[in-house]
Amino acid sequence: MAMKSKVLIVGGTGYLGKRLVKASLVQGHETYVLHREEIGVDIEKVQMLLSFKQQGAHLVTGSFNDHQSLVKVVKLVDVVICAISGVHIRSHQILLQLRLVDAIKEAGNVKRFLPSEFGTDPARMENAMEPGRVTFDDKMVVRRAIEEAGIPFTYISANCFAGYFLGGLCQPGFILPSREQVRLLGDGNQKAIYVDEDDIATYSIKTIDDPRTLNKTVYIRPPQNILSQGEVVQIWEKLIGKELLKSSISEQEFLAIMKEQDYAEQVGLTHYYHVCYEGCLANFEIGDGAEEASKLYPEVKYTTVEEYMTRYL
Ligand code: NDP
Repeated sequence: MAMKSKVLIVGGTGYLGKRLVKASLVQGHETYVLHREEIGVDIEKVQMLLSFKQQGAHLVTGSFNDHQSLVKVVKLVDVVICAISGVHIRSHQILLQLRLVDAIKEAGNVKRFLPSEFGTDPARMENAMEPGRVTFDDKMVVRRAIEEAGIPFTYISANCFAGYFLGGLCQPGFILPSREQVRLLGDGNQKAIYVDEDDIATYSIKTIDDPRTLNKTVYIRPPQNILSQGEVVQIWEKLIGKELLKSSISEQEFLAIMKEQDYAEQVGLTHYYHVCYEGCLANFEIGDGAEEASKLYPEVKYTTVEEYMTRYL
């Protein structure tokens, strides 16, 4: 049997990153996690890193401000996965990855790089709205650097993180579902795709030693989780045994409210606009040069929307 690749996770203490560390360990990969010197006395992060070590990961020290330190850690592994921040209301550091790309290029040993993507496919968002298009534009800058450097890659298009979208019944600004009311975005009929963050990590790790995903985009589209906002609301109503009071926000109203928000909020709202009013995640067929994760890995028992939502009861 082929040896499992050694994996380095960058951004391992993050919302998605910590799940990637766990999935990598569970799937039997020798797992290295970057301990950035800059985190200093952030006790939560340090304790999390130590817990990774207790679970069998290796902690390796490095800094985005020290090229050679990155080259050194990259040389230890076969695969690099980056889950650096990319949500403006939290932190957005996507372009910092260019330094990681330089290190991977110099190290020369990496068989696969998964950059911090894990959302809407940026290659499909060339007509995205300002200011949210910055997320897609920056991710495309990183893609170009990877491809120009000839680094083997897999891009993971994970669609909607369930915690944000299901938690808030697809309403921006909410991450816990109301038992009283919901505001539908438009008619609430555009389909989107919701994925449990742990499943995103599981599928992502599955791709790294798979020749079928080399230099490809992998979309995560669990078939039962392709649902409209209205359908998500119905599932929640069934779980709580009660109908919610419904109102609706038109496209024009949504855009007008968006313009009054600060920059970081506007970025997030732009993303909700493309997903919920335009249906940008589910309105296309997966074509050449791409794969779909639940088809590639039918053995993964993914979490359905209903299963995910039981946590809010
Ligand atoms: P987080 O905000 O949780 O941050 C992840 C990690 O980034 C941090 O833990 C830290 O890692 C690292 N980081 C943050 N700031 C810096 C810095 N200045 N220098 C170096 N490293 C830094 O990220 P998320 O998990 O929310 O996002 C990961 C990816 O997922 C992004 O690409 C994002 O766009 C995408 N995403 C997609 C969503 C969707 O619905 N599809 C929703 C949310 C995110 P450490 O300290 O360990 O080095």
